[in-house]
Amino acid sequence: MTFGFGEQGKIIESMTEAQLIADVTPALQKMFGSAAKAPRRAFATSWNSDPYAGGAYSFQAVNCTSQDHVTLATPASQSLLFAGEHTHELYRATVHGAFLSGEREADRVISQSGSVPAGSTLSINAALNLIGNGVEAPISVGAVFDDASKVLSVWKWVVSGSTQGVSYPAWAFYSPALADGGKAYAAANGFYVLTTINPGEGAWVNAKVAFSTVLPGGTAVQSTSFKPAVGTPASGGGVRALPQGWSLIGAGDSPTPATFSAAVAATGSASPVSGKVATSVISMWAWDPLKATWYFGSPSLVNSGGLDTYIASNKYSDFASMPSGRLSSTGGFWVNMPQSK
Ligand SMILES: Cc1cc2nc3c(=O)[nH]c(=O)nc-3n(C[C@H](O)[C@H](O)[C@H](O)COP(=O)(O)OP(=O)(O)OC[C@H]3O[C@@H](n4cnc5c(N)ncnc54)[C@H](O)[C@@H]3O)c2cc1C
Repeated sequence: MTFGFGEQGKIIESMTEAQLIADVTPALQKMFGSAAKAPRRAFATSWNSDPYAGGAYSFQAVNCTSQDHVTLATPASQSLLFAGEHTHELYRATVHGAFLSGEREADRVISQSGSVPAGSTLSINAALNLIGNGVEAPISVGAVFDDASKVLSVWKWVVSGSTQGVSYPAWAFYSPALADGGKAYAAANGFYVLTTINPGEGAWVNAKVAFSTVLPGGTAVQSTSFKPAVGTPASGGGVRALPQGWSLIGAGDSPTPATFSAAVAATGSASPVSGKVATSVISMWAWDPLKATWYFGSPSLVNSGGLDTYIASNKYSDFASMPSGRLSSTGGFWVNMPQSK
């Protein structure tokens, strides 16, 4: 079997069988020696001229970007969703891209239906893990991470609060290795005492060994709930309106940097000009504990066409290269929000 791409594909479609045999035989003899005989028969697909094929798989013309594939994945409505290799920003034109795009849209259907199946499994590696609570049910740190033979410490970033002796933003700390769970250590170091990872919050879990644990199920935390309030007095924000600067969070609707940025865009700016993504977040970061690398996304770099170069030069990874192509409901991420306008 041989491939003819682009213009060559069109030429091959127009050839007779005799011409195809005459065309391919010298190549076979170059590869296998002069003893290679001319094939008895030759067949070519006609996907270019076949109106029911209209081409074989997606092809990036000059000036196309990955963002065009994100645009093709944008749902038309809650009930009209798009999967297919052409909708995968990284693995387009492949079977695995098609497969992952199907999983992505299935996730979208589940999250739109408003619930994450009870018993989502949180997989922890023997490393620092960035986790998130994407379900509308609190995670009790003392109950889930109480095994000192597995867990060294758990850390949560708290942006604001009113606890005396804590200067915000501050780290909240828990350790099963300390008899009091780390209360005295936290007080001595100006940390907040960590007891709960609330819905929509993220945390670092430093683990000695790999293990998994089943988290409570419930309604999925929606990315739109992080929409910042705008104006003076501030209004229009979601129930978890993000402040400017850095927040460590988790969402249950499996966002990508592009979908999260669109979800938290202030009303009226959710639809940027055609071919561009909403720039309501500066950057989004998730940690891969096995590869020890950051997944990085920045809508403004997508729009300027500089994302791939930036990721490569900093040795980051693209969010689309996550095993599932996007965050899970147990995946935490950092988001950096611009100054409110
Ligand atoms: C020659 C060739 C070699 C390839 N080699 C590889 C490879 O080595 N590795 C790899 O990973 N990928 C390879 N690919 C790419 C891979 O096959 C495709 O990316 C993948 O199959 C796309 O899957 P999909 O589900 O997105 O689309 P498709 O598999 O094309 O499915 C689309 C379906 O929709 C149907 N359809 C179209 N229009 C309508 C309509 N109006 N109403 C109802 N149904 C409709 C079609 O009949 C088809 O069944 C190759 C492709 C080709 C053509």
